[in-house]
Amino acid sequence: MIRYISITGNAEPVNFKEALLTGIAADGGFYVPDQLPSINLEQLSSWKSLGYTDLAFEILSLFIEESIIPHKDLQRLIENSFASFNHPEIIPHTYLKDRNIIVQELFQGPTLSFKDVAMGLVVNLFDYFLRKDNKKMNIIVATSGDTGPAAGYASIGKSTLNTWLLYPRGMITEEQERQMTTNYAPNVHPIGVEGCRNGSNDFDVLIKQLFADEEFKSKTNLSSVNSLNWGRIMMQTVHYYYGYLQNVDRIGDLVDFAVPCGLIGNMAAGVIAREMGLPVDKFIVSTNENTVLNQAITEGIFSKQKEIHVNYSSAIDISVPSNFWRFLYFTTGRNTKRISNWFREYELNGIVEFPHEHVKSFSKGILTNSVTNEQTLETIRDVFEKDGYLLDPHAAVAVCSAKKKEHELGNKVICLATAHPSKFPDVTLKALGRIPREGTHQSMTNSSKLCQRSFRCSFDDMAHVVPKTILKLTGTE
Ligand SMILES: *Cc1c(COP(=O)(O)O)cnc(C)c1O
Repeated sequence: MIRYISITGNAEPVNFKEALLTGIAADGGFYVPDQLPSINLEQLSSWKSLGYTDLAFEILSLFIEESIIPHKDLQRLIENSFASFNHPEIIPHTYLKDRNIIVQELFQGPTLSFKDVAMGLVVNLFDYFLRKDNKKMNIIVATSGDTGPAAGYASIGKSTLNTWLLYPRGMITEEQERQMTTNYAPNVHPIGVEGCRNGSNDFDVLIKQLFADEEFKSKTNLSSVNSLNWGRIMMQTVHYYYGYLQNVDRIGDLVDFAVPCGLIGNMAAGVIAREMGLPVDKFIVSTNENTVLNQAITEGIFSKQKEIHVNYSSAIDISVPSNFWRFLYFTTGRNTKRISNWFREYELNGIVEFPHEHVKSFSKGILTNSVTNEQTLETIRDVFEKDGYLLDPHAAVAVCSAKKKEHELGNKVICLATAHPSKFPDVTLKALGRIPREGTHQSMTNSSKLCQRSFRCSFDDMAHVVPKTILKLTGTE
């Protein structure tokens, strides 16, 4: 039986259900399984012809025992979670003409970003457990633009949940904001916070404060579906397997992945898949001009960046990439004591310098690349002209990195396309001088024809007014 432990090691181990529903461990650490299932090539071969949802079932059932969720329920939950995807294959791949570059389209979900890939299932699992226990919950979500719309959509019709979406007004695109503010479900509550400077990282302190307030937490039965939640990471391991199985010539061949990284939850999942036995040679941590991760991996210095740089790839404008801790845990010998010491140092001083031997171990098979705004536009233009394929700015960060690191890679490179370009029309316009049909989407046009509905507050008032509002609206005052 897999138990879920906190990476900082100071909380009671729990089962899958509890790890999912509490989101973050009592010691403030992130949950991880105490053992990783291992996958061999024979098993991989037997999965070769599976569709995405059947593959997801195989992988997830390694982490979730039948006694926690009966297999037929798990299968149904997975099926339901992907029923709203726009593509029959759920996660299709496109080959670019250039060399071995493959674009993995993770944006075919209902809100057109990679966040839909895990959010649908995670929210469905919350609802499944809460209904069994006859309970209700408040979920708080901080978003850099895509998590909010995905969590809002997934919460539609879930009477067990009130979902609060905190977003930094003016720091996400109008299209992303409308996806939240035109979601009229009575249990979905977008809160536009004015005056943010560091994007979604501006909500870290508030969320920590709410989770530390035992009275508030128990009154509201508070949880989170941000990528601190293990359920998100677990689900995100699947597209690495799927990308592998769909694209290798022979099982056992190596592939590389280029991943646009923000909180680095997506790539942490990839690294976990590799630890389980997926034959991946290299990951490219692809960032914009927010380069905390690049410095951590290449120099072994992990520091809190004071302010974010605003980039076209705004969903990865992140200064505190929280899943780096999970990444470290899995790449430095899974030692909770070590992680706990580093974590404490980071919290205390805002900086950790890792010993050389550990840098060597966690940077193995990891390349990093930072992409400027100008390079982002160039990549969008270039790929559109040569391949007739329109990248969103985040996919462009991945593709640009794959091209730039070409000489260090020897395999097919799967570039994760994490959003549909229609979420970033201003960037398309800058790159191409026009918005081609591929840069539009019917759902965006539809939402532009509706009134917007949201709560508003200022960054300075947020810590007082947000908890009061949650209590008042949910009648738990
Ligand atoms: C969230 C997001 C990312 C980054 O994912 P992380 O898990 O935070 O690293 C990349 N691209 C887009 C479009 C996103 O919405």
